[in-house]
Amino acid sequence: MNAIDVVKWLETHFPKELAYEWDNVGLQVGSLNRRCQTVLVTLDVTKEVVEEAVALKAELVISHHPLIFKPIYNVATESPRGRVIAQLIQHKIALYSAHTNYDLAEGGMNDELAAALGLREVQLLDETDRIGRYGTIDPVPLEDFIAFVQRTLNVKDARYIGRSGINIRTVGISGGSGSNHVGAAQRKNCDLYLTGDVTYHTALDCRQMGQNVLDIGHYAEAIFKTAIARRLREAFPDIDVRESAVDTDPYRRV
Ligand SMILES: [Zn+2]
Repeated sequence: MNAIDVVKWLETHFPKELAYEWDNVGLQVGSLNRRCQTVLVTLDVTKEVVEEAVALKAELVISHHPLIFKPIYNVATESPRGRVIAQLIQHKIALYSAHTNYDLAEGGMNDELAAALGLREVQLLDETDRIGRYGTIDPVPLEDFIAFVQRTLNVKDARYIGRSGINIRTVGISGGSGSNHVGAAQRKNCDLYLTGDVTYHTALDCRQMGQNVLDIGHYAEAIFKTAIARRLREAFPDIDVRESAVDTDPYRRV
C-alpha cells in the first residue's frame, strides 16, 4: 500500500473541494509516492508529534490543522515551523492535512462531535457556510450537560456564556472557530451552542443576543484522531494506524 492510496480514500470521503477558499488542505510536506505501513493521526503538528512519528517509523502523518496555513517565506530551521518541516523531510515523512473539508463533510468533524454527544435528529446548522450541526437530547440541566461535554470531549477548560438554571434540549455544535455561526445557532433555537475560539467581544455579543454558548476550545477536535484512525483501520486493515499520544493543547489550566 502506498501513501497515495490512503490519501485517495481520504479525498473520496472528505473531498478537498469542500474546503473553504482561505484554507490550505492536502499534501503539505513530502511525497505520497512511497510505501506506507504506519500512519500517525494527529490534531496538530508539533515537534513532539514529529518525534513520535519518527519513533513509530510512520511514513505518513495525517493532521486536522494544517502545518502550513498562512504563506511562509522561508524554511529557516531555527523557527519552530521550519524545524518541523525539515524534520519531516529528513525522515521522509509525508504530511497531509484535512481541515475544513473534514469539518464540512458528511461523516466528518461535526457529525463525529454530534454523535459523541448523542444528538438526535441531527441537521445542518448553518446553510450559508455549510457547516455545523444541531440536534436534540433528552432535556437535562445545563450544569449536568456541561459536565458531560467536558468528560466526553476531554475538554479541560470550557467557558460558558449565558443564563444559568436552564434545561438543555436543542444543542448546536461547530468544532473549531465557529464564532461566526452564533446567529445560525440562534435561528435554530439552540438552547446551547458549542464551539471554540470565542473571543471576549464575541462573548459580549452572545450575551446581548441571548444566545447561550459553551466555548470548548479547539482541542475538542482531538476527536479527529480517534475518528480518522477508526475509519482508516476499517479501510486498510494491513496498515498500522496510530493516534498521536501527544497532548498538543497549548493551554494549561492555572
Ligand atoms: Zn480547529
